[in-house]
Amino acid sequence: MINLKNIVRNNIWNLKAYSSARDEFKGTADVFLDANENPFGTLNRYPDPQQKAIKDKLSAIKNVETNQIFVGNGSDEVIDLAFRIFCEPGKDKVLTFSPTYGMYDVSANINNIELIKQPLINDFQINLNQLQPYLDFEDVKIIFICSPNNPTANNLNPDDLKYILENFNGIVIVDEAYIDFSSQASFIKNINTYNNLIVSQTFSKAWGLAGVRVGVAYASEAIINLYNRVKPPYNVSTLNQEAVLNRLNNLELVKANIDTILLERTKLKEALNKLSIVKKIYPTDANFLLIEVDNANKTYQYLIDKKVIVRNRNTQVDNCIRITVGTPEENKILIDTLKSI
Ligand code: PMP
Repeated sequence: MINLKNIVRNNIWNLKAYSSARDEFKGTADVFLDANENPFGTLNRYPDPQQKAIKDKLSAIKNVETNQIFVGNGSDEVIDLAFRIFCEPGKDKVLTFSPTYGMYDVSANINNIELIKQPLINDFQINLNQLQPYLDFEDVKIIFICSPNNPTANNLNPDDLKYILENFNGIVIVDEAYIDFSSQASFIKNINTYNNLIVSQTFSKAWGLAGVRVGVAYASEAIINLYNRVKPPYNVSTLNQEAVLNRLNNLELVKANIDTILLERTKLKEALNKLSIVKKIYPTDANFLLIEVDNANKTYQYLIDKKVIVRNRNTQVDNCIRITVGTPEENKILIDTLKSI
């Protein structure tokens, strides 16, 4: 167990969450003249700052309390606000395991926080021996763990995650953006066990709402209270909340979508395996494949010229490109184009 007060920035610890007149007034009313809104129209009112309807639904689906949920403007906001809550600019540090999702680095730079990169080893797993000294560093406030990891596509060993949660006196953010494609269980079930755990999920991947920008953090009530103190009051728009609610009321559609993507993933793997330019396909628990080719820069450029866009990850993993599983039609175009090289 960590003492949260010791790792939260002082000014945030002492801060009160912003509260509007409508937050303070708990009943129903006929006349709303408190927020300088335009009285006419359909989207004229501010959105619910607490996103209550979404949290009620997620609470039932994920088996957590509503006060253990933060809804953000994409999980990128979950990541960025963590820096504001826990890291003193110019002083504190965070740690990531490379190669991984680029936003931790971007957010660290924006917030003037040093980022320590520990290389993943042996098929992209955490090297606990190398990590050990950092677990005791007082100025390392957050460890980001992306599982399944982007761009390597694999799950990280859950025993390693537990070891870090038990032996690190700071916050551990487990980024589960791709968890719905994974064979492994979410870490959400552990938020009552570890008071330094934040699990981040998103509506952008399996839920099919990347255009909507809604991400979610699950953590202890104490951590969620900190998020509520630093978030912009109306961080999720009415239209975005409606789109998410709509999807939460249509779980069969989401499930069918995931099943299709997993089936297409298998077919895409088989087709890629038959191509001579493909040297290796890394195991995947996500909706994308990391593949090694003869020459990533050349393959990437060839595909671009044919208007097929994949991600060149050559700078992160030698001669690798990352391919998202698309529709059957998109996947066929990709394979046909690669065949024509
Ligand atoms: N985490 C990971 C690991 C991702 O790959 C991405 C998007 N590529 C995100 C978070 C961002 O998700 P969101 O759209 O919710 O901001």
